[in-house]
Order: sequence, then structure tokens, then C-alpha cells
Amino acid sequence: MPEGDTVWSTARRLNQVFAGRPLTRCDLRWPSVAEVDLTGAVTVEVVSYGKHLLHRLRSAEHGVTVHSHLRMDGSWIIERPDARPSGHKIRALLGTPDHLAIGHDLGMLDVLPTADEHTLLGHLGPDLLGPNWDAGRAVANLRRHPDTIAAALLDQRCLAGIGTIWAAESLFAERLDPWTPAADLTEAQLTALVERARRFLRASCAHPIPSSTGELRPGRNTYAHGRHRQPCRRCGTPIRVRRAGPPTRQRPIFYCPACQGVATE
Ligand SMILES: [Zn+2]
Repeated sequence: MPEGDTVWSTARRLNQVFAGRPLTRCDLRWPSVAEVDLTGAVTVEVVSYGKHLLHRLRSAEHGVTVHSHLRMDGSWIIERPDARPSGHKIRALLGTPDHLAIGHDLGMLDVLPTADEHTLLGHLGPDLLGPNWDAGRAVANLRRHPDTIAAALLDQRCLAGIGTIWAAESLFAERLDPWTPAADLTEAQLTALVERARRFLRASCAHPIPSSTGELRPGRNTYAHGRHRQPCRRCGTPIRVRRAGPPTRQRPIFYCPACQGVATE
């Protein structure tokens, strides 16, 4: 699943080709917005908040935002304006005279007044990559969370932008047991954890492949994530995986039982 760094990079690429230009093509293949036509509207900017993409435009009367979410497999790909994309997974086509952006397999697509964005995003915690990042608020949200620290990190209401990769890698780097109740960690531990996650995300904004190890080769780019039964890069103990989160939204979290002090069950 794309995490905050991937969404941030997608927003930056879209912003580079759309900002200041009018839309010459708008084809939204999503039932609730299929009738919306934004051709002629000028892109103000494309930004991310956590895992959400906000394409802000100015039309004749007011600001309007095309909001999308990549969910599991979504992407925005930028092509030449004369590209002829096909396939049943295309959910949106937005074009200028110079580029065509193709939204594949999007998990959400809405159009709303820019002034109403808070109705979509107001429940989210501070954005790790946003200009208003607030570590104190993120830590306070984590401390109030009723579940494990792994589940709390994945809960976008605490802080926005972390998925399974950065949850696992941050917990490993800080040597924290993912199955500890979030409320049992100290403020200092939680502050170090969120700042670690933020550093990982910021560093990965510069690369096409997320990396906590500094290596970009697949299979060498993480310490714990995706390495079930492989030896820990620190201590050699086999990496394990367990599911975190509420029953309907459980997600895999990889960890080293030795480095992270996890009691064997
Ligand atoms: Zn280890």
C-alpha cells in the first residue's frame, strides 16, 4: 500500500505539471462524480495530507478540490497528452495541453469545495510530511489510543502517513515491542518513535523505493518489513510477523522478537 512518502511524491509530480495551467480534459469514472466537468478550471496546487491527495483548482466561482486516495494499489501516472490509455481500472483522466494524468485503481474519488476539505480530513492526526507537523499532538494521540502501539501507528487519526512499512521499521529502529499497549510507552519513547518515522518518510520522498537501511535494492531496503523468517540484520534472530489493528482492518507488522523484546508465545 502506498504510504505517506509515495503519496507526497505523487502530489509533487502532479503539481509540477498541473500548477497554473487550465484543465483541457476531465473524465472522472466514478459514479458519484461522473457528471462533474472541470475543464477550464485552473490548477492552484496539488498537495498531500497523509495518504490523501488534494488537487485544488480555481473555477469561475470558487475553489474546488479533486480528492483521491490510492488505498491498496492506486496510482497517478503522467503521460503525454495524446496517450490513449485503456483498461477497466482507470478511474480518472485529467489533462492539460502538455500532459495527461491517469488515475488507476483509485480507492476514493470526490469533488468538493476546497473550503470543505476539513469534512474529509478533519478526523486525521498531524501529517508527518505536512508544513504543520505537530509531534506533541501526535504523541498525545498515541498515548490515548486503546490498542497496541503497532495498531496506534497505523491509525491515521493519531498521525497521518504511516502504513505497515514505516510502522514496522520505526518500531524496529527504536527497539520497541509492537504489541505493547500504546498507553504504556513513555512520552520520550513515543516522541523518539514519531520523529524516527518522520525521518524515514522524509528520506524516502527522494527515492522511488522506500528504504530504512539506506539501500535501494529490493530485499535490502528494510530491516524487518517483508522479511518473515529471514535473519534479523542486527542479531540474526528470524524475523516474525503478526497482525495488528481492529478485527476488520488487520495489517501485517514484521518484527524481531529479540531486538524488540517481544515475549515468545
Ligand atoms: Zn534482531
